[in-house]
Amino acid sequence: MSEIICIANQKGGVGKTTTAVNLAASLADSGKKVLLIDADPQSNATTSLGFSRNDYEFNIYHVLSGSKKLSEIVLKSDIEKLHLAPSNIGLVGIEKEFHNPKNKHKELMLKNTLKDVEDSYDFIVIDSPPALGPITINALSAANSVIIPIQCEFFALEGLAQLLNTVSLLKKTINPKLSIKGFLPTMYSAQNNLSKQVLADLDRHFKDKLFHVKGEEECIVIPRNVKIAESPSFGQPVINYAATSKGSVAYKNLANALLV
Ligand code: ATP
Ligand code: MG
Repeated sequence: MSEIICIANQKGGVGKTTTAVNLAASLADSGKKVLLIDADPQSNATTSLGFSRNDYEFNIYHVLSGSKKLSEIVLKSDIEKLHLAPSNIGLVGIEKEFHNPKNKHKELMLKNTLKDVEDSYDFIVIDSPPALGPITINALSAANSVIIPIQCEFFALEGLAQLLNTVSLLKKTINPKLSIKGFLPTMYSAQNNLSKQVLADLDRHFKDKLFHVKGEEECIVIPRNVKIAESPSFGQPVINYAATSKGSVAYKNLANALLV
C-alpha cells in the first residue's frame, strides 16, 4: 500500500506545488516509486515537470469524472520512478459534480480512484489548490497525512486554524487515518527578521510537528532560493536543475526525514 501525502494550505503562493514536486522527485531519487497527482486546475505541478497541454490527452478530471482509470492517464517523468497524473484547467468542472445531490460519495471521489494504483507506488503525493474547496477536501480525504507549507512572511499563520479544523473534522468523520505529518517553513531568509519570527511562532505552537534531519536540533526549513524559483521554467525539479543548491539539499533532507 502506498503512503499518501497531501500538500495543503488554502493560502496561495506558499510553496505547495514547489514542495509537492520537489518532495516527490526527492523520494523518487531515493529509489522509491512515486506518483505525483496534480489536483490543481492551475496545473503548475504538471508544467513544473516539463509537460505542456499538447503532451497529454487525458488528465485527473477524466479520472474523477469516471471516464478514465488513474493508471490510464499517468505520464512518465524524466526522473526514473516518478510518475505524474497531470491536471488541466478543465478540473474546475469537478466542482459541479461535487454539488450534485445525487453524488453520494463526493468527498471520496479521489480516494476511490486511487485503489487502481495503490499497490504500484511507495508514495503518492497530491498537490492541492489554494482553497478549502471540493478538490482539497477530496485530496485530504484520500490522504494518510498532510504536509502544510508555511511561507515565512507576514500573515503566515492566518487561516491556519480553519485548515486545522477541516483536518480535524475529516479525521472525525470520513478519514480517521488522516494525520498532520508536519509544518514546513518555506521561503525562509536567514537575514529577514520576519522569517525568524514565523519560525519562532511555529516552534512555539507546533514544535513536535516540524521536520528534522536525524540528530540535528534545528528544524528543516526551505530557504528562499533562486534555483528553486527558476527550475519550473526549465521543466525540472530543483534536485535535477541545480542538484547542489541549498534548495535542492533542503528538499532532499525533507524526503530523508520521511524515510527514516
Ligand atoms: P498556489 O497557491 O497558487 O498553488 P503554491 O502554494 O503552490 O501556489 P508555489 O507555486 O509552489 O506556491 O510557489 C509560489 C511561487 O514562489 C512560485 O513562483 C515558486 O517558484 C516560488 N517559490 C516557491 N518556493 C520558493 C523558494 N523556496 N525560494 C524561491 N522561490 C520559491
Ligand atoms: Mg500550487
